[in-house]
Amino acid sequence: MKLIVSKKAGYCFGVKRAMDRAEKLLEEKQNVKVVSFGALIHNKQATEKLEEKGLLELNRIEDIPNGSIVIIRSHGLGKHYYEELQDKNCIIEDATCPFVKKIQNIAGENKKKGKKIIIIGDKYHPEIEGINLWAGGDCIIGKDCSDFLFLKGSKESFIVVTQTTFSVEKYQEIKKCLKDNLKDIVFYDTICDATKVRQEDAMKISQEVDVMVVIGGKHSSNTKKLYNLCENICKTFLIETVNDIDEDTIKPYDIIGVTAGASTPDFIINEVVDFIVHIKK
Ligand code: SF4
Repeated sequence: MKLIVSKKAGYCFGVKRAMDRAEKLLEEKQNVKVVSFGALIHNKQATEKLEEKGLLELNRIEDIPNGSIVIIRSHGLGKHYYEELQDKNCIIEDATCPFVKKIQNIAGENKKKGKKIIIIGDKYHPEIEGINLWAGGDCIIGKDCSDFLFLKGSKESFIVVTQTTFSVEKYQEIKKCLKDNLKDIVFYDTICDATKVRQEDAMKISQEVDVMVVIGGKHSSNTKKLYNLCENICKTFLIETVNDIDEDTIKPYDIIGVTAGASTPDFIINEVVDFIVHIKK
């Protein structure tokens, strides 16, 4: 049996930064509540560990206790939430990934200059909801060429930003459609390098193995994209933890590849790797 584990699997810079900050705050907190506004990362097992240490995960501003420490997750948050949290005398610990912050600024500044803002990505993803709000809340959002066809021939001036974890291949396809249909358009290529490198490595490994195992949270969009990319190349399983695979599933394959989304902790990856090594002995 040959096992190839992607060196790019697991926490990206932004997720690690948010997790480290949360850990530190939970160690240092005295009698102050530490709140994550929404799931800190899209991995249930990792956030459960933080909750055991005292992190409160709350999804509505009205539920956040006055005066608490509030961690803004790596996906970022709309501008007005900062003001509302300040009104509640909360201490804001901003763990917005700097790459996401950069997109919020690009969108906000261009909006002020009168440009129309196009966001390529999932409109229900918190990163996109946040960017949209930093640019006034009326961005044009879509994830397929067809979502933007109604703009064809528009004389307005557009700029384009992309969800940091969007598929590189799909982005190139949409970029071409937009270029063909709109004259005044500027692209800010904002897919994060960590995402590009992870996707490229996953595709490379997929070409060398009989089966890929992609590990990540059910709500992790970058994990789903990794799965889709690998699935196009070879047989692929998407799992959240070691409990989602069994011996019979893995045994028939000789060369096995493993990768994981940006919010998958090392301990989960290691459990899966150990399991595969054990059953193939
Ligand atoms: S994927 Fe990139 S942009 Fe998103 S949190 Fe990680 S490092 Fe930041």
